[in-house]
This record gives sequence, C-alpha cells and structure tokens, in this order.
Amino acid sequence: MGEHESFTTDAVILKMVDRGESDRLVTLLSADRGLIPVLCRGVRTLKSRRFAAIQLFSYAEMTLREHQGMLSLSEATLKENFFELRERLPAFAAASYFADLLLTVCVEGEGDSDILRLFLNALYLLAKRPAYPVGQVKTAFEIRLAADMGIQPDLLHCAGCGKAAKEGFLDLSAGSLLCDDCAFANQKVDPKAPEGASPAAFAGDGEAPHVLIPLGQEAVRLWQYVTAAPAQKLFSFAAPPSVWAEAGRASEKYLTYALGKIPGTLTFYYDMI
Ligand SMILES: [Zn+2]
Repeated sequence: MGEHESFTTDAVILKMVDRGESDRLVTLLSADRGLIPVLCRGVRTLKSRRFAAIQLFSYAEMTLREHQGMLSLSEATLKENFFELRERLPAFAAASYFADLLLTVCVEGEGDSDILRLFLNALYLLAKRPAYPVGQVKTAFEIRLAADMGIQPDLLHCAGCGKAAKEGFLDLSAGSLLCDDCAFANQKVDPKAPEGASPAAFAGDGEAPHVLIPLGQEAVRLWQYVTAAPAQKLFSFAAPPSVWAEAGRASEKYLTYALGKIPGTLTFYYDMI
C-alpha cells in the first residue's frame, strides 16, 4: 500500500490506549484484515465527530489511511457501540476477556469473518439481552472460538478404544475424549476420586502429564451443538444451568490450556461475577 492510500473496512475495537492529549492508539479486529493497529488523532475531544465511534467495543465502518508508516483513522461511521456493556460489570468483564482472547488468537493481515461475527453476536447478547446468563455466553464463545481456530476436540469417539462416545473425560492436551472404561482401565483416573473431581492428572512412561476434565452426556451434546450450529443459533442450546456450568469448566480449561496462558481479564471476570 502506498503512502496516503486509504481503504475502508468494518471493524470492532478490541483495545485502546490513550496517546498524548487527544489521540488514541486502538487495535481493531476487521473481517477482511484481522488485527489492525491504528492511530486515531484528536478523537478524545468531545467535538470530534468520530468521538462516539472510537470507544472500546464499538463496531464501525472505518476509513484508514497510511501515513508515515502507520495507519491512521480518517473517517468512522458508528454501527453499534454496545453502550449497555458499561452498565453491567459482569458483561463488561466478559467482553474484555473475549477481546483479550482475540488479541491472542487473531493476527495482523489475516481476516476471519467467522471470528468477528462470533464476537459481535456475543457482544450483542451481553449488551442487549440481560436475561441471558453471562456465563453461558462465555461458555459458548469459548467452545465456538476453539472450533473457529480449528482446534475443536474430537468428542464423537473415545481416543482409547475408538468406540462412539457419549460421555467421558476431555483430555486437554490430546484434544480428545476418553470413555470411562479407557480412563479407568489405564489408571488415568482414580476411580475413588469424588464425582466431578478435576483436573485429574496422569502420566505414562515418558509421557507429559495429561489433564482430564469430566464431561457428562449433556455437556458433550452442548459442546457438539455449539461447535456445529449456524452462527445465529449457536447460543441457543437449551440445557439446565448445571450442564452449562459443567461444559464451561471444560471449555475454559481447554482454551487456556491451548493458549498456554490465563488472561488477566479472566481473573477480572471472576472478580466481577
Ligand atoms: Zn474407550
């Protein structure tokens, strides 16, 4: 792209850092270009007509221009600012955690419209549907993000015996399910451990320790539904809160294990709910 060349893209703001007296350095997630760092000049003055568009989690049509080796914002037309997030701290904390995950997972120059849509749909529920439990948005977001990243676990078959599996233990490092028989037979799970005890760690000869998370039949069904459902329906699986909670324990551990870190915003989230 040449100097002063500009382009327009639909993007959501994942991160903002104030610069100087009136500027902002923002990180956008766009459908066609992935993460984009952009300098927004003068947007913190109330008289700026772009003020409303350049807020955390705002979704806008942005026109960007290359200037001195950096992209800067020329125009922004707000589509949705999800303002209600600022009135509900648990929802705001969840949105911050999602943004943190995307800053880790997405890259500059590589668009992913599925991931952008997942984030926008999650923000919509958090902001506009206060009756929808925040924890369920989080669980569905984590499961679907893993699928969109191409790291969804294989929950259809037991990785030990190959039989069709309906429930068992999610092996975090292998990204697969072990049926009860295989998990117990290989002494990978202590049968005397109290129901629901997790994580259970085991290690064979020369093997890295595995971490197993129990996953019951309904939680497996929930996970499979969210992985494969059309984008506009992935949050609508009907299950009791206990099943969402069980799937959620597994999805959070699975994703943070895959990323190799626990985002600081996840701690913030638990402080807020
Ligand atoms: Zn098995």
